[in-house]
Amino acid sequence: MAKTVLLPIDPQEQNLIDAAMKQAITQAQERQAELHILTVVPGYNNPMVASYFPQNAMEQALDAVDEKLTEYIEKQVPKDILTQLHVKSGNPAKEIIKMAKKLNAEMIVIPSNKHGRIDQALIGSVASKVVERASCSVLVVRNV
Ligand code: ADP
Repeated sequence: MAKTVLLPIDPQEQNLIDAAMKQAITQAQERQAELHILTVVPGYNNPMVASYFPQNAMEQALDAVDEKLTEYIEKQVPKDILTQLHVKSGNPAKEIIKMAKKLNAEMIVIPSNKHGRIDQALIGSVASKVVERASCSVLVVRNV
């Protein structure tokens, strides 16, 4: 199985991840690994809420996110790195951990935005769950 570096991208934060993208590229090059990018579109969480949306609404959302990210990846990632995009729906932290296990990832590179004093958390909830639960190394890249 090929070595892999996993970079999760919040579909709402594509413009804020340049520093993490650079790190993920460096890590993939140093390890001669593939770069796998995962984005998770949150699900409806509740079947009753889901019943109010047309059946293909989620598929359309996934396709739109896929298209936007593919464009971003083409611009950012050097052509010599094998790159694969995964678009899933569900709970972001759970899907990130699941994908890291499935790929047997060597490393997860995860961005972290600056948090205010009010929530007192130094990293966000998705990033902290990933750090807690991942069985591989996790590189948290801060956006200052
Ligand atoms: P922050 O406030 O720093 O954005 P989060 O913990 O919510 O804190 O997010 C940190 C990182 O977790 C994101 O930059 C992204 O890498 C990952 N992440 C969060 N939500 C998603 C998602 N829906 N799909 C993929 N990755 C996500």
